[in-house]
Amino acid sequence: MSAFPLSLGSPLEPLVWPPLPIVVALVGACVGSFLNVVAWRLPRQESLVMPPSHCPRCGTRLAWFENVPVFGWLLIRGSCRHCHRPVSFRYPLVELLCAGLWVAALLARPTAMGGGASPLLLLPAGWLLISWLIPLALIDLDRLWMPEPMLRWGVVLGLAVSAAIGFSQDADVGRALLFSHLLAAGGGLLALEGLSALGEKLMGRPALGLGDAKLAALLGAWLGPASLVAAVALAVLVGAIGGLIGRLLGLLQRHQPFAFGPCLVLGGLGVWLMGLPFWLRLAGFPATV
Ligand SMILES: [Zn+2]
Repeated sequence: MSAFPLSLGSPLEPLVWPPLPIVVALVGACVGSFLNVVAWRLPRQESLVMPPSHCPRCGTRLAWFENVPVFGWLLIRGSCRHCHRPVSFRYPLVELLCAGLWVAALLARPTAMGGGASPLLLLPAGWLLISWLIPLALIDLDRLWMPEPMLRWGVVLGLAVSAAIGFSQDADVGRALLFSHLLAAGGGLLALEGLSALGEKLMGRPALGLGDAKLAALLGAWLGPASLVAAVALAVLVGAIGGLIGRLLGLLQRHQPFAFGPCLVLGGLGVWLMGLPFWLRLAGFPATV
């Protein structure tokens, strides 16, 4: 394994092959472009592949250069070449975000899959997790709802990846990882459902959607119990800060519900990419995990 240039022992090691981050950024931007399509079409129950990319307003099929991530949007200067109506700035932003997160996964120190996990498995696992969570966050932002099959399959995928990475270390690690991540998935679901029920009792309205509980289950399946707790804590912090800024800027009214899914996504990705010890140190705990 040590002969492989992608060992994540040092954050600088990916630079052994200098073009790698650039290649990864390009692939990540293309994946981000596809995730924009997923976030638009999945809630509308449209096919993800047919028809090819088109302007959602006038239906004109996009030229090849308009499909190039980020540059396509810059070339048309943010409006459709045919109907001249604006094309959201969100499209290139998501492409850039996905590219950045894919590169970040190269430098990541995931601790959720055991200390002996191979970087060769952690890297594609991280890319898969990032690409699964981005459309969920976007759809929740748009609709305050997340598609149930994507949440359910995300849990299954998380458990499968945990088992694969666990058993690649040895059978005991595999069994322990699978058991703890299964426990975290169930615990995450019950804890957030419980919190939502409590909020409803105290405030007379649901504090969280059922989708948030299922997203917590998904994160539990990928991260395991300790990292899930850290991810939810981060999500609450992000939600509190985001809510405060939203209120200050007049974007959110008092008692207006806002999407908690993107906060959970940020928390989950933060813990996956930086590793649990980083957040424990930041919170003042002795990092022995
Ligand atoms: Zn158009």
